[in-house]
Amino acid sequence: MKRRDFNRYLQRSAVALALSPWLTAIATPASTDRAWRTHPFALGVASGRPRADSVLLWTRLLFSEDDLTASTEALRVHLEVFADAALQHRVQTTQLVTDATRGHSVHAHVQHLQPSTDYWYRFRQGDAFSAVGHTRTAPALNAEVAHLRIALASCQHYEQGLFVAHQDIAQQPLDFVLFMGDYIYESSNPQYAVRLHSGEEPKTLAQYRQRYEQYKRDPMLQAAHAAHPWVLMWDDHEVVNDYANDQDRKYTDPQQMLKRRAAAYQAYFEHQPVLLGPDTNNPANMRLYDQLSWGKLADVWTLDCRQYRSAQACRDPVRGGGRMVVQCEALSDPTRSMLGQAQERWLTDSLSHSKRQWKLVAQATQISATSVPTPVGRSYWNDAWDGYPQARKRLLQTVVDAQLQNVVTLGGDVHCNVAANLRLEPNNPQSPIVASEFVTTSITSRGLGDKPAAVIRESNADLLHYRPDERGYSLITVTPDAVRCDFRTTPFPAGSEAGFKTQASYVVKRDQAGPQLL
Ligand code: FE
Ligand code: CA
Repeated sequence: MKRRDFNRYLQRSAVALALSPWLTAIATPASTDRAWRTHPFALGVASGRPRADSVLLWTRLLFSEDDLTASTEALRVHLEVFADAALQHRVQTTQLVTDATRGHSVHAHVQHLQPSTDYWYRFRQGDAFSAVGHTRTAPALNAEVAHLRIALASCQHYEQGLFVAHQDIAQQPLDFVLFMGDYIYESSNPQYAVRLHSGEEPKTLAQYRQRYEQYKRDPMLQAAHAAHPWVLMWDDHEVVNDYANDQDRKYTDPQQMLKRRAAAYQAYFEHQPVLLGPDTNNPANMRLYDQLSWGKLADVWTLDCRQYRSAQACRDPVRGGGRMVVQCEALSDPTRSMLGQAQERWLTDSLSHSKRQWKLVAQATQISATSVPTPVGRSYWNDAWDGYPQARKRLLQTVVDAQLQNVVTLGGDVHCNVAANLRLEPNNPQSPIVASEFVTTSITSRGLGDKPAAVIRESNADLLHYRPDERGYSLITVTPDAVRCDFRTTPFPAGSEAGFKTQASYVVKRDQAGPQLL
């Protein structure tokens, strides 16, 4: 789609609808199987997991007091897919039945689509229509592709700023949004609140659903979902801060922790355009890691860095989870894993055999080192890859062993814009640069202060760029010759008056590992 058409489309449909009062989205009744008193599509629509011939379309019905009788029923939802923004050329219709066991969420895996093609879609239940969403399929696997445009995003604490970054994302011409985790936050920090979570810290399915409802009601977030397909990975806050597999910071009994994780994963599935829900045999498990290809241009992996990882090394015995650790022998334990054995094997195999021009390894946190010197040795943040140095070495050794060029890793979690060199031995100029890293800052969540940031920057020569002060997202533009990263930012806290600027731009050139400042 040309940018002009895209802008016209945005004005006409997604953003306009998403930002208008919900009741105006209810059209005149087409059929009268249910007359809604209030709009049931209040959480908007979303598309995700774009493939050359398929995409996932999502919505979820919500019930006000006036429509509560419907909340216990199985309801039939109609889906229409169109080839044009004016909704004149309908290419598919389907009906899906949903009920309370899945929170009345709707996941439509729409297939038999054309590659590199724009589609528009909407849902209907009774006399209520959803907003219109736009999506786009991936190119054919063997297609020559001129560019891939991604918005890389993560960490949207509702209380710590407005989702203005999503408004900016909604207006960009993109192939997809790559969201790398902390979509919701379970916890609060009143010190930095510009608005408040409703309800207490979620632990049950009902509470996690309530938290997603609050986030998903945000019109700017809805606009970004309605405008583009999303490729999603979670991090820790979708369950609880700093969790690792079945461990949390409070050393909760693992069986209890897994119950909470099952509730959180179920709520995640119910609110996102993802393919699979929790495993029916073990609802605490849900496979989210995935791989997609963009013609001959790129392979993209999305890695789950929470569900299978070893617990953080050298945890505080009272308050577990992430912290800075010194003289921690466990760091050199080769059995400790960030991805878990099965995912690591899958990645090693898939990455080693990739024949596409660019290999984009998206994972939830930061791979490059951020350790700082102390009088008793270097101090490492044990929650990111610095806390899993043997796993990091195996990942980068795969790149070396398979003689892979053009590996770029993409991350989030640390609320900081990062451009970095990746070497087998971090910060050692004798160790060759084998890959390049971009980490995006947070949509809203507060970053590290200026002083610690300066120390980290000075202590790690591989960090070419390290800015935790601003909020935003990153535009990643992939062409056959380069991967470009534009850090799009606004001051903290992200507010409605602030505009977006480009903090810095870096480029990784073909066959030349390491980002270069533009
Ligand atoms: Fe975060
Ligand atoms: Ca996180």
